[in-house]
Amino acid sequence: MGKYCSNCGRELQEDSDVCLSCGKLVREVSPTYYTPQSQSNQGKALSTISVVFGALGFWPLIIIGSIVGLVTSIIGLSDDANRFKERSKIGLGLSIGSLAFWLILMVIGRLSYFF
Ligand SMILES: [Zn+2]
Repeated sequence: MGKYCSNCGRELQEDSDVCLSCGKLVREVSPTYYTPQSQSNQGKALSTISVVFGALGFWPLIIIGSIVGLVTSIIGLSDDANRFKERSKIGLGLSIGSLAFWLILMVIGRLSYFF
């Protein structure tokens, strides 16, 4: 009761998914489950990039991969529409790991000048 079809204006039955008069789907879409396709794809791309570049960061002279992975994973995690946050977290872990790896190597490199 109190619900009317947005298409034809007829009153709808309680718990009805479809207007019996015109056949229009009237089920309300829960906003928490509604994700625009473009944004979910963006989240997927961001999280994938963060994993790939985070892992690339471990290879010699690809420290830029650590930084790209770090940035993309942070953007991915801050995006509320991103359904691939677990992947972004993996990317973040890999990026921080590879960045730390390079920082340690740099510190050791600097120290070797003094010994
Ligand atoms: Zn209707």
